Amino acid sequence: MQVPFLDLQGEYQLLGDDIRTAVLEVLASGSYILGPKGRQLEQDLAAYVGTKHALGVANGTDALLLTLEALGIGLGDEVITTPFTFFATAEVIASTGATPVFVDIDPATYNLDPNLLEAAITARTKAVLLVHLFGQVADMEKIQSIAAACNVPVIEDACQAMGASYQGKKAGSFGIAGCFSFFPTKNLGGFGDGGLITTDDDDLAHKIIGLRNHGSYEKYVHVQLGLNSRLDELQAAVLSVKFKVLDAWNEKRRALAQRYTRHLQGIVQTPAVAPDREHIYHQYSIESPQRDTLAAHLQAKGIATGIYYPIPLHLQQVFSPLGHCAGDFPVSEAAARRILALPIHPLLTEVQQDYVIEAIRESAGDRS
Ligand SMILES: *Cc1c(COP(=O)(O)O)cnc(C)c1O
Repeated sequence: MQVPFLDLQGEYQLLGDDIRTAVLEVLASGSYILGPKGRQLEQDLAAYVGTKHALGVANGTDALLLTLEALGIGLGDEVITTPFTFFATAEVIASTGATPVFVDIDPATYNLDPNLLEAAITARTKAVLLVHLFGQVADMEKIQSIAAACNVPVIEDACQAMGASYQGKKAGSFGIAGCFSFFPTKNLGGFGDGGLITTDDDDLAHKIIGLRNHGSYEKYVHVQLGLNSRLDELQAAVLSVKFKVLDAWNEKRRALAQRYTRHLQGIVQTPAVAPDREHIYHQYSIESPQRDTLAAHLQAKGIATGIYYPIPLHLQQVFSPLGHCAGDFPVSEAAARRILALPIHPLLTEVQQDYVIEAIRESAGDRS
């Protein structure tokens, strides 16, 4: 048996008729960028996330970058984030000229550890850019109360968390802004790049509308430097179809995750869900001290796995000027050594899942 990590082609086959209809409408419309499909998607996603504004951009990285730029963050500023995330989270901070300041993660959830936050805030701190890693919302109550006491805005990197919630509120609706990615492998993924910024703040939304379009609000009138960073109509058309199944597919992932956990508990370390969370399992990551042996065993059995993330960001070569060394963020470093993501996607069958579970039990020497 082969168990792929994802099945994007299978997902296309399932939704193919609706996607082809939506795409053909765009092709015939003559409107390809910033048109009606994009505006409709923005409205639908603002309502879904629960914010006043949702603005389509070219990708999740730009969503983060434009948010930082709209907040005026740049040279001499500090932005707090974690070293255990996709590279782009810290990359955009450095791209603005600001300094990424890392705070270690909570070992149970892999999200920013609120107990370490206050000590990292300085007079230069201009934002906390937290991540809802793997689809689980960070500890917003504690983080927001610390940030608010220090007058520091919170930005959510919700690229892995479309539909995740905490105390009934959706990811992307807590901070000054939420940043999303429609990269094909994300829970709401297009057939190319795409991104979104959610916010309740009218001024911030206005700035982003200019920044994503060459600093222009009126054709050929430019009031600032911006970017060309817009969501195109073809992606919006695909996303509008996939949005209809988002909740059902997140529910499917959750059911599969619960099933993995039921069968793997006590054999490997299974993911923890903090109280009041609806985890959407963009990834289902286990931990094992024998991670590499386990991954090799699964690969030999035709089971694909992934490692998110093998190198914590403070140890990335490009950030060596920050002067960090091994041991600085021990929780992130241990997770990087031990973590392993198992196949989880809406088309994974229980038969395939049983095969994965059995293979993990074999590797752990437990045939019970
Ligand atoms: C995917 C991802 C991004 C970047 O999104 P792109 O659309 O690929 O630019 C940023 N942060 C996190 C946590 C992500 O998972």
